Amino acid sequence: MAPPTTNPKIFAQDLPTPEPETPCRPRQPYRFSTLCATVENPSQKDQYGSSSVPIYQTATFKGVDGQYDYTRSGNPTRSHLEHHLAKISSAAHAFTVSSGMAALDTILRILKPGDEVIAGDDLYGGTNRILAYLKTHGGVIVHHVDTTKPDTVLPYINSEKTAMVLLESPTNPLLKIVDLARIAADIKERAPNAVIVVDNTMMSPYLQRPLEHGADIVYDSATKYLSGHHDLMAGVITCNRDDLAKQMAFVINAAGNALTPFDCFLLLRGSKTLAIRMDRQQTTAMLVAQMLDRLGFKVHYPGLTNHPNRDVHERIADGYGAVLSFTTGDKALSERIVGATRLWGISVSFGCVNSLISMPCIMSHASIDPATRAARGLPEDLIRLCVGIEDPADLLDDLERALLEAGAITLTAGGDSHQQFVRTIPSEGTAISRAVQKLAFNDSTGYTTERNEDREWFVSAPGKVILFGEHAVVHGVTAVAASVDLRCYGVTTPRHDGKVSVHFIDIDNFTQEWEVDDLPWDAVTPVRVGDVHPDSLDHKLVDAITTRALSPEVLAIPSARQACIAFLYMYMIMAHGGNRPSFNFSARATLPVGAGLGSSASFSACAATALLLLYSRIQLPAQPAPTTVGHVHVSHEGRRALPPPLAEEVNRWAFVSEKILHGNPSGVDNSVAVFGGALSYTRAGFGRKSGMIPIQGFKSLKFLLTDSRVPRNTKQLVAGVSALKEQEPEFVDGLLNAIQSISDEAQRALADPNLSRQTLLSALSALIDENHGHLVKLGVSHPSLEVIRSKTASPPYALSTKLTGAGGGGCAVTLVPDNLSESNLRELMAALSTESFVPYLTSVGGSGLGILSPYNQPQRLVTPPETPREGEAGAGPVELLRDTFAGKATSDLSAWADSLGRWLFV
Ligand code: PLP
Repeated sequence: MAPPTTNPKIFAQDLPTPEPETPCRPRQPYRFSTLCATVENPSQKDQYGSSSVPIYQTATFKGVDGQYDYTRSGNPTRSHLEHHLAKISSAAHAFTVSSGMAALDTILRILKPGDEVIAGDDLYGGTNRILAYLKTHGGVIVHHVDTTKPDTVLPYINSEKTAMVLLESPTNPLLKIVDLARIAADIKERAPNAVIVVDNTMMSPYLQRPLEHGADIVYDSATKYLSGHHDLMAGVITCNRDDLAKQMAFVINAAGNALTPFDCFLLLRGSKTLAIRMDRQQTTAMLVAQMLDRLGFKVHYPGLTNHPNRDVHERIADGYGAVLSFTTGDKALSERIVGATRLWGISVSFGCVNSLISMPCIMSHASIDPATRAARGLPEDLIRLCVGIEDPADLLDDLERALLEAGAITLTAGGDSHQQFVRTIPSEGTAISRAVQKLAFNDSTGYTTERNEDREWFVSAPGKVILFGEHAVVHGVTAVAASVDLRCYGVTTPRHDGKVSVHFIDIDNFTQEWEVDDLPWDAVTPVRVGDVHPDSLDHKLVDAITTRALSPEVLAIPSARQACIAFLYMYMIMAHGGNRPSFNFSARATLPVGAGLGSSASFSACAATALLLLYSRIQLPAQPAPTTVGHVHVSHEGRRALPPPLAEEVNRWAFVSEKILHGNPSGVDNSVAVFGGALSYTRAGFGRKSGMIPIQGFKSLKFLLTDSRVPRNTKQLVAGVSALKEQEPEFVDGLLNAIQSISDEAQRALADPNLSRQTLLSALSALIDENHGHLVKLGVSHPSLEVIRSKTASPPYALSTKLTGAGGGGCAVTLVPDNLSESNLRELMAALSTESFVPYLTSVGGSGLGILSPYNQPQRLVTPPETPREGEAGAGPVELLRDTFAGKATSDLSAWADSLGRWLFV
């Protein structure tokens, strides 16, 4: 017998149970139910011989050298209980704490920042919650893996970094079986220092003792079977290793989460009947499972012969347990069944002597957002049954009545003696299947199980050029704007580390990351799915982001600051269903930034699209229209693979982002960025028909866009024209009227199907020259723009050029006729470059928003560098789009993007 020690926490459990012995007939060791019922601790004999362990309801103990001094550190009632639990768990050590979660918390304190944890992807919700917290606050990296397939665990094992493996079998509520022995062996072989932890709550030590199968630590929510009466909360930790036991004892003493004496008493009392309760409960559970199976429901219970991995379960466990679940095909029907039972209590939790019924998706698992539930295959109509010790006949009868009352089963016709119950099949297309469909792509895409946030998304949107009517538009004149073939591109990459980050490649490679949980969520009033963002911005949120999420360094870079605010604003206000995806958004453009070509609007469209996709607020069409692979490098005509409602939703959000970036945008830039093509726009309040009208039949035109690289002050330029109008109203009105005629004429010409290409180009040339002349008179040109104009107008080019946008610098647009020779064009571009201008050859009027199609591509499940994953065995690391995206030369970006596959365009 081990001598009493000063540390009762660790060694009390080593005290042996008396071995039954007789010289003539050697006896077998006591069996489980005998062990349960006999609470004996030879080293802690009761002074009065009490048959029940007394409650030592005291905080302190007198004296200095006694075995106990303070109940947080040790208490006789707890020692008795822990000795008893160690005994029935075949463990050297047992500890009892205030709940199952407290047990896990105690165990997780082994981890250090940088440690990696491999955990199941179908764990108890509270376990996920605490792991997510550790990820974001403790620097621990967690890989959620489908542990029902042991091979999927292998790529995540890192001999140095894997510090813990967290398993549950069977899982709750789908009763999925995990081969604990196989995974434990794989881990021990590859990462011997990793601690294998098993949550054994669903089985209890009676049915499964994972320490015997290689686990290092096992914990139970003793709130369930171990206590059995739902009258206390408790957690039990068992292990064989002394070093781990020491750590557990230290944490429990330090944190003060040990089980109180009274609860120890209750748990000890409850545990005496564990075996007999479990026997009764699982026998009845089998009857219930068989009845439901017979009626035709899809039943999850390891006792049924067709249950996946049943053989694995039988190898590891001694019984099937008393939790089962089944689906009905219709959430409303399930709700009716649950509501119709009388004996089965509607309650979360399990393991009680009373039978319970629940719908996990609206009860125990409601904290997991619907998209994640769908991704894990957790049906919304699932009913969970936790079988108690009532008379089996009563339980079956009550359930059958509820099924009948809810309309889930019906009596067949026939004579009295032949009548039987059969399942009524719910009609197709029920709310549940529709909801799941909404969350996943159509089967043919191969993306049914992949969540939008688990893959990379590649989006792009064009910039715009104002062809006619700038400045005058402020005073009610119609402007004509068109998309350019210079685009902004955005790539989202999942992070899985509780952070969200941005990389703005064109703003000096600006990067910034945020802990998702640290964002000012208290300031957000979400825009619910289906709702439209109010007309004005939520300034409370803008202020909270600016003051609480952005560092002084970020605030000092105006363009990055505004882009961060716009991005975070949309990220936060779109969040719904508890979903806050962790990902990186990288953006870059082939457009010059800040040159009046709508770079901010195309950025806004990309960011909005990316976020809407990640939040599953927009759905790609299920059946892509058949078309050739490769970039759809055509005019906007007839090419509309992304549906208008999607484009409209993106456009509304891109406008929100534009408001953050610009204050008071017209909406033209974002509309062009989303819809592409060309449109005319007239402001309201000037007696003309106002609004935006697409110019149908716009023919793609080539333009040279030349960035003067002279910065502009748009506000000042606009104010200058207004001042001039006030001083010389007649002069300015005359110019405005002339510009209106130019716009009208341009729209007519651009939309006229009968106009020859040659006539169209000459007409546009003349209108360009005329419009520029008026802009010069309005005082918004700049010497640099005039240099560009004269260079392009000089022989042999003789091209027409006008400033575009606000003027005062920025860009000039030069119409490139079809007959301009390649060599002349190259020469002209070289000449402009020598003046340190930057010319871009672009076509105008092409596609709008684009999304790289996820269809018919190899499944791209990307894991970010923070959590490296080696693809399938031997497949090597997954190549991230993001890396190539960031590394490409700007001149190669568009061709590379095109080469990736088919793009879906508005
Ligand atoms: N593990 C499992 C499998 C559970 O079902 C639960 C609770 O439902 C827990 C752990 C947490 O236990 P407790 O509620 O006692 O903290």
